[in-house]
Amino acid sequence: MHNCKSLRSWLGKLKKEEQLAVIDKNVSLEYEIAAFTKKLDGKKAAYFSNVEGYHIPVVSGMTSTREQFAMAMGIPEQEITDKFLDALDHPTPCLQVSSEEAPVHENVIMGEDVDLLKLLPIPIHHEKDSGHYISAGLAIAKDPVTGNQNVSIHRLQVSGKNKLGALILPRHLYSFYKAAEEKGEPLEIAIVIGVDPVSILASQAIAPLGQDEMEIAGSLKGEPEPVVKCKTINVNVPAYAEIVLEGRILPHVREPEGPFGEFPKYYGPKSNKEVIEITAITHRNNPIFQTILASSYEHLLLGGIPREASLLRALRNTVPTVKDVHLSLGGTCRYHLIVQMKKRNEGEAKNVILAAFAGHYDVKHVIVVDEDVDIYNLEEVEWALATRFQAEKDLVVINGSLGSKLDPSTNKGVGSKVGFDCTVPLNSEPMEYEKIQIPGMNDMNEHDYLQQQVSFDLLPGEHFKE
Ligand code: MN
Repeated sequence: MHNCKSLRSWLGKLKKEEQLAVIDKNVSLEYEIAAFTKKLDGKKAAYFSNVEGYHIPVVSGMTSTREQFAMAMGIPEQEITDKFLDALDHPTPCLQVSSEEAPVHENVIMGEDVDLLKLLPIPIHHEKDSGHYISAGLAIAKDPVTGNQNVSIHRLQVSGKNKLGALILPRHLYSFYKAAEEKGEPLEIAIVIGVDPVSILASQAIAPLGQDEMEIAGSLKGEPEPVVKCKTINVNVPAYAEIVLEGRILPHVREPEGPFGEFPKYYGPKSNKEVIEITAITHRNNPIFQTILASSYEHLLLGGIPREASLLRALRNTVPTVKDVHLSLGGTCRYHLIVQMKKRNEGEAKNVILAAFAGHYDVKHVIVVDEDVDIYNLEEVEWALATRFQAEKDLVVINGSLGSKLDPSTNKGVGSKVGFDCTVPLNSEPMEYEKIQIPGMNDMNEHDYLQQQVSFDLLPGEHFKE
């Protein structure tokens, strides 16, 4: 049994594995944290212990590889998707604990003392961002009708001492908020900063409305998530979180938010958005502030891993012999889907392409390959496209379909979807598409061959000229 209970337990594990870079140098909130995070992206997490003007350290890029996510879940990398699907099917109810038992209630700040930028080291990441943004806050709210909780992440612009501007896309939190707003009421909301990577990953699950993502986190961890009721609102939050902002989304109020650098490596535009008023801040002793750099591997994989799980399930419902799926980093872990399948009937790969388009609106380009292609090796995928694809019969194009609104090449999200069927025709000759192999190569140990010394007999003037 592994134990990834909190941000601190994860940072301890990373340190032990020598995957945590500790930065003692005085760093600025403005761009410097982002720049260093980007340098370490895909390698190590960054822990900034000395942030200019603050006593609170900042952690960034705490999980930026698939291997690290697997390590946080305590499983081998190849099992991530199956484990995630299992957790979606078998949620684990949370464990309610008292305020005294909850580290996040060790300190409480209320009323006039709430001053976001004075208290918390909230960074600025990209050149044209409108200001300081909380980018790794779990937004937790209760459905006003059923009382079920929902967890999601939204970009949160610091708009004032106790005010945040939020981008709330039309999903679960949005539906709770609209239900409250229609009655002229605010929606209570907690913003949870500083939790372990499994909880963050679970918050990104493509789960139905009504399913509490914290219960998915519990299943991924193998034990119920301890939660505590907030001090000023009726919302339950992870008891071992570093920092919790308690507040409410105001009804019928919209104020400017943005621009903000987003996952596709472009800026999301400025427009009028919902406003959250913060009523209290609670935090652990010596809290740690967490940030996620937009479009970093961490950000991309957080979107990709849960989507891969849901897409795999959707594709298997259409063709059960789909083996695996991969949302590649270059496709922002959303737009490019690579599918590995065992084709038993001609035409099945085309059906898989259509199911992928319908499986999630973000999917734009789909490449389907046979079982002998490693879909995590993009050189092999390109080889399949180069040698097993003929546009005349293997290309699928759907125009005028809804995709990602953050893809600037679309018309407000409406654009083309393209599928590439790179599977081998079932009636091909036996050796026609057989990959060449070198017998014995896979069992060969290079070190057994690399022990000989050699010198070459050179004539004067024959030496390599440096
Ligand atoms: Mn949800």
